[in-house]
Amino acid sequence: MNLIIFGPPGSGKGTQAKKISKYFYIPHISTGDMLREAIKEKTCLGKKAQKFMSNGDLVPDELVVKILKERIKKEDCKTGFILDGFPRNLEQVELLSNILKEIEKPIDLVINMIVPEKELTKRLLGRRVCSSCNKNFNIYQQSLKTFKCPVCNGELIIRDDDNMQTVRNRFKVYKEQTELSIQPYYEKDLVIEVDGEDTVENIFENIKIILEDIFDKD
Ligand code: ADP
Ligand code: ZN
Repeated sequence: MNLIIFGPPGSGKGTQAKKISKYFYIPHISTGDMLREAIKEKTCLGKKAQKFMSNGDLVPDELVVKILKERIKKEDCKTGFILDGFPRNLEQVELLSNILKEIEKPIDLVINMIVPEKELTKRLLGRRVCSSCNKNFNIYQQSLKTFKCPVCNGELIIRDDDNMQTVRNRFKVYKEQTELSIQPYYEKDLVIEVDGEDTVENIFENIKIILEDIFDKD
């Protein structure tokens, strides 16, 4: 099961990708998470990526592709994976296709999360992330009484790029570069659209039904 989850910033793809990963036992490969990890660890890559991310710009392809390639070649991806945040432009579509050819793992399905734009900004500005278990929460959906994670009691933080100015630029980049990059998958008839305007649980139920239906058949 080699999947891509696609959608605008705030569409909930990271949240759903984590649930899919857990339920179907496939690794969740999030380029955003890997880059944030590199920044936290102050690696050479992290230092280079930081300014692009905090502006809401794309990190240069060669940097992202390098970490993606290393990750996807690991043993645990043999039975499948779910890619989140990659590809983000047409060049990355091409680069991904080359990597996957090399390891003989074609994409089976692309999940496109559909959410109206007005909803997205609200979600991004209300997002809080646990600095310990990395789970996402939202002040508009949950009543977070303290700054502690309801799951592990870790500290809840606001992501560096979840502020109004950066969010605006992330949408601009999405419209100018990322939105187009799903087209080649539509042309190959690999895309299913999922309504992302529902509860996390309902959305996941829908995705689960679709995936179980497709992947049980073969
Ligand atoms: P979101 O999809 O909500 O914007 P992500 O965690 O996927 O959040 O990405 C956050 C940021 O990480 C992006 O704005 C970008 O700077 C960087 N990034 C993640 N994936 C890529 C990628 N494939 N190519 C370039 N930059 C990326
Ligand atoms: Zn936590």
